[in-house]
Amino acid sequence: MARFLRLASASADTWHRNTDCDYSSAYVSLYTSSDLVGHGMTFTIGRGNDIVCQAIKEVANRLVGKEVESLFANMGKAWEYLVADSQLRWIGPEKGVIHIATGAVDNALWDLYAKSRKKPLWKLVVDMTPEELVGSATFRYITDAITPEEALAMLKAKEATKAEREAKVRELGYPAYVTSAGWLGYSDEKVARLTKEAVQAGFNHFKMKVGADRANDLRRGKIIRSIIDDPQYLPDGLAPRDPNGPELQGKNAGPTGAVLMIDANQVWDVKEAIDYVTSLKEIKPWFCRFIEEPTAPDDILGHAAIRKALKPHGIGVATGEHAHNRMVFKQLLQAEAIDVCQIDSCRLAGVSEVISVLLMAAKFGVPVCPHAGGVGLCEYVIHLSLIDYIAVSGTMERNVLEFVDHLHEHFLNPCTINSRGRYNVPNNSLEGYSIEMHKASIAEFEWPNGSYWAKVQGQS
Ligand SMILES: [Mg+2]
Repeated sequence: MARFLRLASASADTWHRNTDCDYSSAYVSLYTSSDLVGHGMTFTIGRGNDIVCQAIKEVANRLVGKEVESLFANMGKAWEYLVADSQLRWIGPEKGVIHIATGAVDNALWDLYAKSRKKPLWKLVVDMTPEELVGSATFRYITDAITPEEALAMLKAKEATKAEREAKVRELGYPAYVTSAGWLGYSDEKVARLTKEAVQAGFNHFKMKVGADRANDLRRGKIIRSIIDDPQYLPDGLAPRDPNGPELQGKNAGPTGAVLMIDANQVWDVKEAIDYVTSLKEIKPWFCRFIEEPTAPDDILGHAAIRKALKPHGIGVATGEHAHNRMVFKQLLQAEAIDVCQIDSCRLAGVSEVISVLLMAAKFGVPVCPHAGGVGLCEYVIHLSLIDYIAVSGTMERNVLEFVDHLHEHFLNPCTINSRGRYNVPNNSLEGYSIEMHKASIAEFEWPNGSYWAKVQGQS
């Protein structure tokens, strides 16, 4: 019932945490007694993928023989059933490999559900009644932060204006930021070229990786700023954005309305993070809006300390791409440790747990800017941000969704960006959660027997 795939990365992007960046995907297909098939995946790297594949088989086996409509009728309950295997819980519970595997399976189940209703996943969810949406989430262990009754009241307050927001985002697209120019290890020329290309593509939010070397960070930051702040590089016909406009307030936007973000990928201890980021701030006061992943992802109180220390400097804290379940997000929110909530569509265990976090973040007034890149993450997250904007938080202009332009060619319905650097709304009634891969990609890259790997092994 399941098949698995490992993709080779199309680029050689490496940075200091993940130095063997063999982008991989554990891919699962759920077959039914009809023609209906659901697809899901989780993003991993290299040898870790094989371990996740084994765990997916164990989790997916729990669904064999189940009647699909009874699962669709209460996706929150279906999710709780998936995580309730006592033997598999022992190697979690609800974290690590087993939770990532559960994410792939839950995502496949949601894909199956959306395809059965002939709607893209986001549309399936935003068309739900508030009661159905609450029933699709899990509230276990988070009722001290949000109860189902509170969630219901929040969703009902947004219900009457959902259609308005849907029409608006269909017209404008969903705001995005681009990471491709800011990797460590690129030459200055490459940073400049990629930044100019991103500006030409309409983007006005740019992210760079930092933390390996302060002088190098400052040099690359200045190169990027010199381009994004100069109106001569804007595409023809695009006027500079107002840096004091409502969507850019507090983001330290430059004169053309461009915003630079920095990402440390967990490199520092708490005090180091405060000192390093503050020193970047001193040299370049308009340098960043927030520091992403300044320290270990499980260190909730460490993030709270960093946020408190950086607040007087106008710098916020973002984290979440390695936060492994809704309880970690609950504590980050309760401890006032984050300004931006960066869910990961695969590290959280699928759409149901993501909805729980969207509801909590909306209650605490923290914007959600999902993590993307990797394999398939961009395809997933546009659905999640549309759910957040249309049905849950009701805001998008201050949010930005990560976009990385690689590996989209493997998907039947790849995400796309419009001329203003914003995600287009997925609109194919048969695309479900947009994660189905081309059969040719699977034949070429399936590990270890795909034609690509056979060739590589033949050469070694
Ligand atoms: Mg990151």
